[in-house]
Amino acid sequence: MATEASRRQLPSVDRLLRHPSVAPLIERCGRTMVTESIREVVAAVRIAVDAAAANEEALVARIAAHVAAQAQPSLRRVFNLTGTVLHTNLGRAPLPDDAAEAVRVAAVHPLNLEFDLDTGERGDRDEHVERLLRQLTGAEAATVVNNNAAAVLLVLNTLAMRKEVPTSRGELIEIGGSFRIPEIMNRAGCRLREVGTTNRVHLHDYADAIGPRTGVVMKVHTSNYAIVGFTSSIAESDLAGLCRERGVPFVVDLGSGSLVDLRSYGLPREPTPSETLRGGADLVTFSGDKLLGGPQAGLIVGRAPLVARIKRNPLKRALRVDKLTLAALASVLALYRDPDRLASRLPALRLLTRPLGDIRAAAERLVPALAVAVSNATVTIIDCESQIGSGALPVKTIASAGLAIRPAGRRSGRALQQIAAAFRRLPIPVIGRIQDDAFVMDLRCLDDEPEFAAQLSQLSESE
Ligand SMILES: *Cc1c(COP(=O)(O)O)cnc(C)c1O
Repeated sequence: MATEASRRQLPSVDRLLRHPSVAPLIERCGRTMVTESIREVVAAVRIAVDAAAANEEALVARIAAHVAAQAQPSLRRVFNLTGTVLHTNLGRAPLPDDAAEAVRVAAVHPLNLEFDLDTGERGDRDEHVERLLRQLTGAEAATVVNNNAAAVLLVLNTLAMRKEVPTSRGELIEIGGSFRIPEIMNRAGCRLREVGTTNRVHLHDYADAIGPRTGVVMKVHTSNYAIVGFTSSIAESDLAGLCRERGVPFVVDLGSGSLVDLRSYGLPREPTPSETLRGGADLVTFSGDKLLGGPQAGLIVGRAPLVARIKRNPLKRALRVDKLTLAALASVLALYRDPDRLASRLPALRLLTRPLGDIRAAAERLVPALAVAVSNATVTIIDCESQIGSGALPVKTIASAGLAIRPAGRRSGRALQQIAAAFRRLPIPVIGRIQDDAFVMDLRCLDDEPEFAAQLSQLSESE
């Protein structure tokens, strides 16, 4: 019963700090943090005045749980079994070990970030990746910023501030996380001039829209949706020809932009920056952490005089990348010099090209352990479809295999949510998806099967 007496029985903070089970907590997390946890737990118990208040051992157990929760970092590794390989909310492309090591070195040591080792004078941070980017895309020049959204913003602000930007109505896209082409244009100080209709645009529409107020013409790769049916768009090379004739720069936002022809790896085609430049684009922007498989970054490649203007824009300083990003990007770009081994060395491509047989074999190996770990549910191997993600190739999927967990009995909606939540509570949280009344884990991106299997026994404990 909740009484003044039980309240008075609460041990003091000092007494709890001296409890033998609390000593290891102090050893691990420090006196300050443990003292804070004790105060919070004791305060909560005092308000609730529940039975635990009287029991010192129960109180100490609560304190240990509280300390453990406080010590847990907010940013944690997870298993991405959603079936979306480049999942924006789960960090997009995983980096190769070499790139991670390059990041570590750059993180703990001074480095020649903006320092020319030959002359001893000030250097340019873009130089650490520019030559590789030129080689890999055929561009005259290149620069790097925080992400592709920043790349688009910087290009527009540099070349079209207080000017018009003719863009096809069918390309006025929104990408998750509130990146909307019309809003970015607005913030870049440009006036959007919509061209054509949602489903059809012709070259003469652009010809009519280009005038003395035009800053650049922009084409946006509609990466996260497809318009099908009665549609018409124009070849980039035709639009490039028109822009050249009229003397306005032609910019293409590729979004994902793969540096290699994905068809040679058995994947659907995605336009490359080099073919887009060859087709006549003056500048191309694309992401570092989508199909490229590197760190978050925005790459701008194309004509040298335009890139030089972009680099002189004061906003470039606000949008520049840090040394860790540059270290990772340089390391990842270097892998592209050896395309034969790219699929085995670049995790994003390795996961995308993982053979179906491999994935299915993993599913078969995991079924028995999983069937033991989940109670009141059935586990089956299923065929499923992985998505590339990050807006790349939205309508094309890759055959994959996974495990489906179906709760026994009715009210499966709640039961399903509980299963998903139990997987999220594991030491390395497992993120799957709910589909067709089942909790589905696509095993394409399961890169560490033993670690996954080892924690399954904790599923029921965490319920
Ligand atoms: C993803 C994408 C962007 C935004 O790129 P981030 O690197 O996420 O900033 C811009 N445009 C297109 C077409 C995209 O697909």
